[in-house]
This record gives sequence, C-alpha cells and structure tokens, in this order.
Amino acid sequence: MTFSRCYGPVSSCPARRLRSSSPPALRSASPVSIRSSWCAKPARRCSDRRRCPVIRRIPYAAADERDAHNRIRLASDLQTAVANQELLFHYQPQIDLASGDVVGAEALLRWNHGAFGLQPPDRFIAVAEETGTILDIGAWGLHMLTAQAAKINRGRRIPIRFSFNVSVVEFTRRDMVAFVERVLDQTGCRPEWLTLELTENLMVPEPGQIRCVFEKLRRLGVGISIDDFGTGYSNLRYLESFPLSEIKVDRSFVHDLAHSAAKRVIVESIVKLGAALDIRVVAEGIETEAERAIMRALGCSVGQGYLFAAPMDDVAFQRLLDDGLALREGWDARRLLTMLDGSGA
Ligand code: C2E
Ligand code: MG
Ligand code: MG
Repeated sequence: MTFSRCYGPVSSCPARRLRSSSPPALRSASPVSIRSSWCAKPARRCSDRRRCPVIRRIPYAAADERDAHNRIRLASDLQTAVANQELLFHYQPQIDLASGDVVGAEALLRWNHGAFGLQPPDRFIAVAEETGTILDIGAWGLHMLTAQAAKINRGRRIPIRFSFNVSVVEFTRRDMVAFVERVLDQTGCRPEWLTLELTENLMVPEPGQIRCVFEKLRRLGVGISIDDFGTGYSNLRYLESFPLSEIKVDRSFVHDLAHSAAKRVIVESIVKLGAALDIRVVAEGIETEAERAIMRALGCSVGQGYLFAAPMDDVAFQRLLDDGLALREGWDARRLLTMLDGSGA
C-alpha cells in the first residue's frame, strides 16, 4: 500500500472509510515507510487540493516499492553528487532558422549515477529543490557553464549564447545578482553570453521582487528567458512588466503545427508580440521539417529540437561547432503555409 495526500474535503474524503478497513500493518506504518511510499508515486489528487490534509491509502504493486527505494537512494546520493563530480551538462544547439547556423545552446543537466546510470533532470531536480541541494547544484552548474562558455567563445568570431535553467528555489534563496556577477568575474564569461531560463510560474509569488532582480541582471548584460511559454500562469503582463530578452515557445505549441490552425495563430501572435517588444522568440521541440518551415514562415528567428540535434555531451558539442554545422531550409515554407491555410487546417 502507498500513502498519498488527499486534497478533497475531509467530510467526503474516502480515506475516512478506508482507514477503518485498512490492515493493522498500515496503521502502524513508520515515517520511513510513509516517506518511501510518498516517493513511490506522486500524490493522487482530489478535486479540491487545498482543503483536505487527510492521508489516503491507495494499493500499489511490488514494482512501486522498488521504485520507492530507488528514489530514496537517489535523494540521499544526490547530496554527494556534486562533490563526487557525477553531474554534467549536455548541450542542445539552438539554430538560427534563417541561416541554419548554431547561435546558442541550452545546458541540460545530467547525473551520472554509479548504479543507475545517466539520469535526466526530471528524475532528481524536484528532490534537489525539496532538500535544498539545488543550491549546491546551481552554484556548480553556473560555474561549469560559464567556464565552458568562456572556453568555447574565446577566439570565436560570432559567440555562442548559452542558456542555463534556474530553479525558483535558487531565485528566492540566494542573492542572484551578486552570485551571477561573482561567477562571471571568476570564469571570464561575458554577461551577454549567458541567458537565464525561468518558467512563468516563478514570477507569480513576488512579482515586484523578481522584477527588481531581473532589472539588475539585465543591467549587467545577462539575458532573461521565459521557458515553456504558454504552459504556466500565462500572463501577458509579464511581457510588459519584466525586462525579458527571450521567450521560449513551449513545444506543445510547436508539435503538430501543420495540423492545427489554432496553434499557428497562437504562435504567430507570440512572435508578433516578441517583435514589437524587442524580445527574441525561440521555438523549442522542433522535430520535423514542416514544424521548422512553419515556425520560420511565422517569423520565429531561433529554433531548438531533435530535428537539428538532441542534447549532446561537451565533446560532441565542440565537434559540432568545429564542423561548422548549418542546417538549411528544405521546405518552401510560404507555399506550405498557403496550402495549409487554403485547406482550412
Ligand atoms: P526545458 O528547459 O524545457 O528543456 C527542454 C527539454 O526538452 C529537455 O529535456 C530536452 O532534452 C527536451 N527536448 C529538446 N528537444 C526536444 C524535441 O524536439 N522533442 C522533445 N519531445 N523533447 C525535446 P531534459 O534535458 O530532460 O530537461 C527537462 C527539464 O529539466 C528542462 O526543461 C528544465 O526545466 C529542467 N532542467 C534541465 N537542466 C536543468 C538545470 O541545470 N537546472 C534546473 N533547475 N533545471 C534543469
Ligand atoms: Mg529550458
Ligand atoms: Mg522548455
């Protein structure tokens, strides 16, 4: 059995009924087992998340228990991952959709765990945020990335812009301006080579405070990007009141663009807003030639996605830059759009 929080009203909560009929072993479950069970499955949610603090019991299989143990082990091992040099970045190129040149790269965290192998960030970022380990990881990450940016851009005629994902916890628990300034100084990375990516939700709790930090970072010359734009508490006011340099259109809007007139209208509006406000628009998750062609025809300047390249290690990324990769357009984009509009897709 696993325990997870029920968020429905107490009076209607099925946990009440379940509690009396549950086996004795469950009633005496230790905090460790509750914790491990919580780790095994994300909370099952009732309709009203905020009101019911009651613990509810849901059956689960042996595989979940294994998973729970693995997650607990991950959480504990994560504390030494930085010191043991188990973290690394993979880099995903960002392409100028007009020229096909690599103009940027997003640094995506990986954890090379001794027993479980290479772990994607979705497996451990949330735990790192919960335990505070994200502060060490973020400090290591910014040092690593800016040092890499300085190394790669030294002697490059047109520098590559590097994007770094920042957690909300880092923004609220450290002086980001002083921290970024210090790290740039130590690594010799120019501020304009660095863009910090944040999700929209980060801006909800303390908009005034966040805006002040953004303004200081922008004055330093560092870029600020809204990641996964359109998926969070989308608020057009962000575009007006935050000094953003970039918007990343979430891949859910890019996916299957050819078959959705509504998505094309939304993307075109975002691109126009970006152009009017002097904010660069980057399309994430471009997987097909059609998606690239349409994004380009809609006026989006930069794209990222498996069509161009999956995230790769630093050696492969350097090789790609040395080879001077340029992915040129293979579609007549305007004609394609006319065809789609004509068919009423
Ligand atoms: P994100 O910043 O939105 O990163 C893009 C994610 O989409 C990456 O997954 C990337 O591998 C994936 N992706 C790229 N191109 C395509 C595509 O064409 N199709 C599809 N389906 N997916 C594509 P990844 O590397 O697993 O990262 C997941 C999330 O983890 C990131 O989302 C970001 O929010 C977070 N993350 C990654 N690195 C860091 C980090 O250093 N610090 C923090 N705080 N979060 C990070
Ligand atoms: Mg990102
Ligand atoms: Mg994203």
